[in-house]
Amino acid sequence: MTLIPKSHPRFQSLLIREKLVKGFDDGLVAKEGLLAHGRGEAFDYILGEKTLKTAKIAIKAAAASILLAKNPVISVNGNVAALCPKEIVRLSKVSKAKIEVNLFYANEKRKQKIVKILKKNGAKEIFGVLKKNATRLIGIDSSRRIVDKNGIFASDLVIVPLEDGDRTLALRRAKKQVITFDLNPLSRTAQTANISIIDNVVRGIVELITECARLSTKKSSELEKIIKNFDNKKNLTHNVIEIKSNLSRRAKNA
Ligand code: ATP
Repeated sequence: MTLIPKSHPRFQSLLIREKLVKGFDDGLVAKEGLLAHGRGEAFDYILGEKTLKTAKIAIKAAAASILLAKNPVISVNGNVAALCPKEIVRLSKVSKAKIEVNLFYANEKRKQKIVKILKKNGAKEIFGVLKKNATRLIGIDSSRRIVDKNGIFASDLVIVPLEDGDRTLALRRAKKQVITFDLNPLSRTAQTANISIIDNVVRGIVELITECARLSTKKSSELEKIIKNFDNKKNLTHNVIEIKSNLSRRAKNA
């Protein structure tokens, strides 16, 4: 139960903070994860804490790509597990994507806690856990190079919310399609992914689930058309313009 009054202008934002702090206390979130959230939160403030039009366009293209992928995988870290475990499982079900736990700051105990919360929320199979299935992604130094040979390693598309730029690049070099949720349109991840959803994962993932369900009845040719019409670079440029107009509007009212 939160003590934050619903009338507080930053209610949602503070609720998200509470979830992360609880996730930290419960051993899901790394200290660095709290700081990474701070960077994202600042961008959310200037986005106006809402899902912008460019995010909706990216979500539609992401849903079409996931539905067309042969072997999609959702990569889960501590922040994502603390913020939206139920939605990760729902997205996995609606899109038939596997779930893999992959941590930047590797820690076996933390990994087990993340697995536990995902299972509590309905996940059946979770990759990235068995040592015998661990293999390396080339071109990256951090512990995130260790992936599951039946999960990310074998995938053709990886959904990486709140990712670090080096690994996004390594995934691209490994010929994977990369979809990210990142609040910072200027991050290396946002700039490197095939599809960058510039939105808070907490909001964007709900829209992605809805979009996957809606598009799941469409023909492949229709999904291919959606992807063909999407241009990530252009969409990111439009996103920065959206942020700029939002700031100008607010400056006028200040
Ligand atoms: P890069 O290496 O891609 O340039 P970075 O070093 O800024 O990025 P990290 O600190 O590894 O990135 O990860 C944090 C990223 O996740 C930031 O870009 C931040 O904006 C984003 N982020 C944090 N919290 C959220 C959230 N709730 N939803 C979406 N994005 C978030």
